[in-house]
Amino acid sequence: MILPGATSGAGVVPRTPELMSIAEKVEAGERISRTDAIALFETDDLLAVGSMADLVNRRLNGDRVFYVANQHINPTNVCILNKVCVFCSYGVRPLADDAYTMSLDEVFEEAEAARHAPTREFHIVGGLHPKLPLSYYTDMIRGLKERHPRVHVKALTAVEIAHLARIERCSTLDVLRELQEAGLDAMPGGGAEVFSPAVRSTIADRKLAAEEWLRVHREAHGLGIPTNCTLLYGHVESAADRVDHMTRLRELQDETGGFSTFIPLAWHPDNTALGRQMGLEGQRTGGVDDLKALAVGRIFLDNVPHIKTHWIMVTTKVSQVALSFGVDDLEGTVVLEKITHTAGADTPIGLDLGEIVGLIRDAGKVPVERDSLYNPVGELSLA
Ligand code: SF4
Repeated sequence: MILPGATSGAGVVPRTPELMSIAEKVEAGERISRTDAIALFETDDLLAVGSMADLVNRRLNGDRVFYVANQHINPTNVCILNKVCVFCSYGVRPLADDAYTMSLDEVFEEAEAARHAPTREFHIVGGLHPKLPLSYYTDMIRGLKERHPRVHVKALTAVEIAHLARIERCSTLDVLRELQEAGLDAMPGGGAEVFSPAVRSTIADRKLAAEEWLRVHREAHGLGIPTNCTLLYGHVESAADRVDHMTRLRELQDETGGFSTFIPLAWHPDNTALGRQMGLEGQRTGGVDDLKALAVGRIFLDNVPHIKTHWIMVTTKVSQVALSFGVDDLEGTVVLEKITHTAGADTPIGLDLGEIVGLIRDAGKVPVERDSLYNPVGELSLA
């Protein structure tokens, strides 16, 4: 029992009995419930939430904060769901003026930046092109691996995997096997959005259903392919929708243990049909909501080892504060971010390693460079 005025092991003493009882569970290392997590989202006692998340994170990661020298590559913005995902500004019609599809040579040319940088990971996602076959991606992965053998390839969301399975008339498991054989090391967590059928029908009707997204990740985990998981927040979803979404992630993680990282993604409304409809263009999620999404994620997803702040979406400043709110991963260098910037992001399109290390050190943490699989690859001394 924490007495008001006492210093709890979780640091900040919560202001209400309900939060105190949640803090007691967190201190005892107990799993919190759906009701608890909703209360954490709904309270205005931000510091108490952050303090609980910080405790959970410190138990798992101490003062270490991971980052990766990565390069984003987006091979095409052509997407058959461009009218379906009303929250997205990236996917376009095949004949749109700004449509592009990179040849494999163009992908390899873009990846050449890795030759002059200490790149450890290619992060490859894009639209659902109606014609690109599976071989485009397997040839891409093989080609990248041949040219950059020490760079991990983290590629294709569950939505892209399911799309390729439809194009090839095979199972998603077959697609995953082929990609793994070509050299796929890990999968990103995009496409999950919010699992609630009501929310999904509003923001991405007819997109891959929650069960299918989870099935593809279960299959990847079964093959030994680690994946990330995400939650797109800041649009029409409620606190209960967020928690129900995370409940399904926590259940799958209990079953497979294959998720490496949870990444809450802050919705950017510019140039999107949903943003226009809601009159939200030019607006952003607030810092409090960003910190809560990360902190509650850390507390609730007690079985996911890492929580990542996507600085591109929430800014480097919020990301730096988040390192005291349960976050142990500051993303990476990125090099050239396209997707969030088409939706109005005003953050940099990339950072250099020195900037990332500086952000971590200024927050009083220990920077640890990692590869895609969270193997430390040496602490950089870029003072
Ligand atoms: S979110 Fe993905 S699947 Fe949906 S339109 Fe955008 S690029 Fe296409």
